Amino acid sequence: PVPLKMVSACMAGVQCRYNGQSKTVPMLRDMVQRGDAIALCPERLAGLATPRRPAEIKGGDGYAVLDGKARVYDDLGEDLTGAFIIAAYKTLHVLQAAGVNEVVLKEGSPSCGCNEIYDGTFSGTRKSGVGVTTALLLRSGIHVYSEKMLFGDAQPELVLSNM
Ligand code: SF4
Repeated sequence: PVPLKMVSACMAGVQCRYNGQSKTVPMLRDMVQRGDAIALCPERLAGLATPRRPAEIKGGDGYAVLDGKARVYDDLGEDLTGAFIIAAYKTLHVLQAAGVNEVVLKEGSPSCGCNEIYDGTFSGTRKSGVGVTTALLLRSGIHVYSEKMLFGDAQPELVLSNM
């Protein structure tokens, strides 16, 4: 059998993003519908509501947050660091319990980002780095891919599905 994978729930069609929307990637949604993957939203696992204020990491990336050297804030300045760390550990525990060793996470997110995150200024500026959940999963030996690593920027179906 195909090993079970996990995908960021927002890419599987779940409306769990901060703005109350999904960012559906049809191939990933189909994997979940076939039973080849489970859909998880780390931030929802941590009890954060949808919709919620946008959040960004200030002072580093997900690794720095895990190491106490950077923090996560929403755009009103509320410190969400604790919730984001809980999100990462809850996700790891679910994956370990389910025997999942491969995940596809949403690029750019302060939890799920794989190569890029926003820079903490809420100006739409990206920088290199990983989200908090991604950092913990990578440190735990889980293989992490983003939708961009798998599909690149060419996702006409994705654009259509979000219009
Ligand atoms: Fe949830 Fe990750 Fe999607 Fe954000 S990017 S909505 S934390 S699954």
